[in-house]
Amino acid sequence: MTGTIDAVDVICTKRDGYPLSADQINWVIDAYTNGAVADEQMSSLAMAVLLNGLNAQELTTWTEATINTGARLDLSGVERRTVDKHSTGGVGDKITLPLTPLVAACGAAVPQLAGRGLGHTGGTLDKLESVPGWRATRSNDELVRQLNDVGAVICAASPELVPADRKLYALRDVTGTVQSIPLIASSIMSKKIAEGCGALVLDVKTGTGAFMKTTEQARLLAQTMVQLGHAHGVDTVALLTDMSTPLGYTAGNALEVTESIEVLGGAGPADVVALTVALAREMLERVGISDIDPADYLVNGKAMDSWRALIRAQGGDPDANLPTAQERHTVTAERDGVIERLDAHAVGVAAWRLGAGRSRKEDPVSPGAGVVWHARPGDRVRAGQPLFDLHADDPDRIPSAVAALAGSVDVGERHHPTPLVIDRITSSS
Ligand code: URA
Repeated sequence: MTGTIDAVDVICTKRDGYPLSADQINWVIDAYTNGAVADEQMSSLAMAVLLNGLNAQELTTWTEATINTGARLDLSGVERRTVDKHSTGGVGDKITLPLTPLVAACGAAVPQLAGRGLGHTGGTLDKLESVPGWRATRSNDELVRQLNDVGAVICAASPELVPADRKLYALRDVTGTVQSIPLIASSIMSKKIAEGCGALVLDVKTGTGAFMKTTEQARLLAQTMVQLGHAHGVDTVALLTDMSTPLGYTAGNALEVTESIEVLGGAGPADVVALTVALAREMLERVGISDIDPADYLVNGKAMDSWRALIRAQGGDPDANLPTAQERHTVTAERDGVIERLDAHAVGVAAWRLGAGRSRKEDPVSPGAGVVWHARPGDRVRAGQPLFDLHADDPDRIPSAVAALAGSVDVGERHHPTPLVIDRITSSS
């Protein structure tokens, strides 16, 4: 307790459904970060927020208070206009890899502070760390220099950026309080706002492989984050995109890097190309670059040049062979027909069990592990044809990955296509 504010009063205010005052929010976030509010008190408050929500004013204050616990990134030395993208995460979601160098090649500066994976969705840093020599750490000076030289950086956030979120997110993870739209929105947006970009494009995913299982939940999260961005002076727009089917044909670190390099070379899976280009157009629009079609830069070699420069600037060798796993196992189709459904969540769990993801944040990942699928919804298959290749370093991991894929594919008569980009959410939506 300090002054007139006390943790139990803050918890009871929210428990009883009343709005928290700005003083209460500022105090509790700061006191929790400094250890003056205990984990059990903050988890109780997080549960009260999960049950009773935060209004727009409380949410803005909560987010501001969270940002103020740490240092903001200083991008004032960057000569180009800055824009970033954030995805709420999905299976086979390697879009950051082709998108960041593509948008840089078109003239914007893209500082991507990315994370490592936990659970069934992969982390961008884990994927890039499969490139020999590539390093995820950048000081603020190195980051600014690289943005001026190359236009793109993908790196880990420093521990000084938004420490309150680091602590609170870990607590929510073990107290059943992750699934709160205001807490998710403020957690994501506090990090993005602290990053100091002028503009932000959000890829909010919905479907079995996404955080938000329904379009209604995903839309509400997108609207909340777009409003928060604007309230903090960041030009923010969101695309609502499908994650019931995994993206592309691969899930796993080095496997996804290989697929991303295909996209940067003007080829690659149609859905990965389409989403990369859709997000690039949104990002370029935010920074006023209207005379370039990013799709052209995937085929004329400029996005690939930018990728190579990005990898080299962070110590990596763009020409090195990527790691491969030692063991392979193929799963075949049981009958003839058309693939009607390929379940993203099942594929994500299989890749995770093969070693591509981690269960605890201290665990290592296996760079070559993962799943390759040979057909997507709408494709015709024949009984006995390979559907999945499972890659693992440890053969003991294969049976549980095969079990995860049981029932993940429906083969029938006809596929009903659904759009990849479901909606576009702006501040006036
Ligand atoms: N990602 C975040 O960064 N925070 C959340 O609360 C959920 C997903």
